[in-house]
Order: sequence, then C-alpha cells, then structure tokens
Amino acid sequence: MYKIATEEMAVVAIRNVFAKHRTIASQRLLKSLVDKEMEEGGEPYKIAEKRLRFLTLDNGIATVLIEYRESETKRAISMCPVCGARLKRARNMTVFGGTVTLGYNCPSCGYNTGARRRVPVKYTFIRRK
Ligand SMILES: [Zn+2]
Repeated sequence: MYKIATEEMAVVAIRNVFAKHRTIASQRLLKSLVDKEMEEGGEPYKIAEKRLRFLTLDNGIATVLIEYRESETKRAISMCPVCGARLKRARNMTVFGGTVTLGYNCPSCGYNTGARRRVPVKYTFIRRK
C-alpha cells in the first residue's frame, strides 16, 4: 500500500520540510511533515522514524537536542543510538594503572551517556544554517 522512500527522495523531502520550519519539536512531527511532503509528489511514500533521524543528521540538515531518561543497562555500546556514528569512549585512569570506562559520547550529534545508559526519549530538531 505504502512504498518505502528511497534515500534521495527522503533527503529532498527533509530539506524541503526544514526550508519551511526552523525547529521541529518532535521526531513524530518531523515524520508526519516529511511523509506529507513526499505524498505531494503523488504517491504515498513512508519513512521509518529511525531512518529519518539518521538521514537528517548524516546529511547535516539539522542538529538535534536530546532529552533522556536513565536506564539500568550498563552493557557496552559502540554505535550511537541517535545517529549511528561510532561512539567515543570516555575513560579515566584508575589508581592501579588501568582504565575504567566512564561513558560514551558521539562526536557527530552530541549524544552522551555515563556508564549507566541514558536513553533518548525526545528529540528536537533544529535546522543548520
Ligand atoms: Zn550520534
């Protein structure tokens, strides 16, 4: 029924949406605006929210403000849950000469977390100049 948008099509639609809006207050709102933008081309295309977020950030169209909640998870992570980039580990030396992982941060979108994982719960997108 719905077709999955190609990357090029989605990026054009995202750029058009941000040409009209400087800030978009949630990922759900961004998705509905982009879906609507693509529908105006005639056929009903859709894009998944995570893919939409990755494309928006990867293509430098917007930056993101992230609101978090704390989770109990302490498992190591290597990939940014927000934009998919490789995370940098923040380490500290211990008195015994080893290192301990304090957390992670993303050099690409600014996601950061302590050893106890912070889970993104809300995104605000802001158009890049
Ligand atoms: Zn990131």
